[in-house]
Amino acid sequence: ARTKRPFRLAIIGSGPAGFYTAYRVMQKVQDAVVDMYEHLPVPYGLVRFGVAPDHPEVKNCQEKFEEVASSPRFKFIGNVDVGHDIPLPSLKPHYDAILFAYGASKDKKLKIPGEDLEGVYSARAFVGWYNGLPEYANLDPLLGAGEEVVVIGQGNVALDVARILLTGVDALRKTDITERALETLARSKVKSVKVVGRRGPMQAAFTIKEARELMNLPSVSFEATDSSLFPADITKLPRVQKRLTQVLTKGSAASASTASKSWDLSFLLSPKSFNDSPSNLGSLSSIEFEKTEFTPDSDPFDRNAKVTSTGRTTTFPASLAFRSVGYKSSSIPGLAELDVPFDERMGIIPNDPYGRVMNPQSGPGALTAGPVPGMYCAGWVKRGPTGVIASTMDDAFASADAIARDWKQQVPFLNSDNSGSTGMGWDGVKEEAKKRGLRPVSWEDWKMIDKAEKERGNAVGKEREKFTNVSEMLKVLDS
Ligand code: FAD
Repeated sequence: ARTKRPFRLAIIGSGPAGFYTAYRVMQKVQDAVVDMYEHLPVPYGLVRFGVAPDHPEVKNCQEKFEEVASSPRFKFIGNVDVGHDIPLPSLKPHYDAILFAYGASKDKKLKIPGEDLEGVYSARAFVGWYNGLPEYANLDPLLGAGEEVVVIGQGNVALDVARILLTGVDALRKTDITERALETLARSKVKSVKVVGRRGPMQAAFTIKEARELMNLPSVSFEATDSSLFPADITKLPRVQKRLTQVLTKGSAASASTASKSWDLSFLLSPKSFNDSPSNLGSLSSIEFEKTEFTPDSDPFDRNAKVTSTGRTTTFPASLAFRSVGYKSSSIPGLAELDVPFDERMGIIPNDPYGRVMNPQSGPGALTAGPVPGMYCAGWVKRGPTGVIASTMDDAFASADAIARDWKQQVPFLNSDNSGSTGMGWDGVKEEAKKRGLRPVSWEDWKMIDKAEKERGNAVGKEREKFTNVSEMLKVLDS
């Protein structure tokens, strides 16, 4: 039988998946105590480092997360990377369950020639740079290298990249974009941005809101899309595709004759190689694409239509390219020791639809196929790197409900095979952290960093000026 002590949950990652799961578990299991581990000294994951600075309303979820963090049953342990700073197995004795909510911190590569040329960036790096992610603080993309930019991929992240490149810096000054990014954008020579996709407009992944924002940018015109890519009669299209067609065929508010910059959506193109030029070896000068076409059995206006290569190619000049073909989750060291599988191909921790970690097959020792006791996942590491904060919330709630149900039904949890967890949580792990010379950041510490960032922002007339490296963040705490 279980001892009478609180349910102890460790959450790895402080993005929306981690916070929404914490919220719901604490609501459903009255005595649940949650410790949230975060690799950076600052919380909120992609809400801070992904969401575009000119979308401040999207960040309102932080208010909910603050409320969660104010509970006496919640602890934030920032600046501790589980798997690197501290071994994952060292958590095991002290918790009843571990939730993996560590998101997707890699990006997919195209695996084509020239991907490492100067001027070719991942959207993840660029987004991280303008949002102050320490990993990319020094990226300083070469926005002065030329006028023509190509973004490869047609999801919302691709449109974020295009919009930030085309928005006048004055419109960004009051946002929390870093000053360093503002200075670089102010010197940018970028005049035209092509956003390129393998399929057609009816299959593009971006949403209407993002397309409309680009259409409404002052002084930025949109080059019309080939009308044959839209059906002659749009009344039969599903609602979303119909509205999108209307937005794309209506075009931009600014006209080409007066606009100083432009963008377009180029369809049915698959990138083949990034090329330099003899006069500028090592730096991007053009991109070759293979033209694609819809397969004979595909309806070009169907969301799931497939394309195939035509063997024909086309080349666009470009001094800058951003590949925006998706983020990717990776395994963290120590998963295998806890019998937690990782599916490298899918980039997820295998799970049942409720977020219970599932072993797809029997393995060495006592490993059997089925749920791994006490192990759960949520968010992008659970279902792959797609979906907005609202869908991440739904998904986190499903995981939390599974945890609460399993705990109430007394299914096996971590350490149920021996005398059970120590139930000490962070108090049990702390010594390990101390031994390794770590400097854990508490919620109170984060509030001090938050305050300092807001003060720095205030001084330059913006909401916040982020610290872009970890030592600057920690300096606030030690001064
Ligand atoms: P994340 O938000 O990535 O959080 C994971 C956290 O885990 C991070 O804080 C990371 O530092 C931490 N971590 C990683 N490894 C470890 C480790 N080993 N130990 C401890 N901690 C670790 N959604 C919207 O609704 N609106 C938008 O406008 C919007 N814009 C977006 C723009 C971009 C560029 C991107 C990429 C996404 C955007 N999204 C937007 C989607 C939204 O950000 C995601 O749905 C959501 O953040 C996924 O949540 P998550 O918790 O799974 O992952």
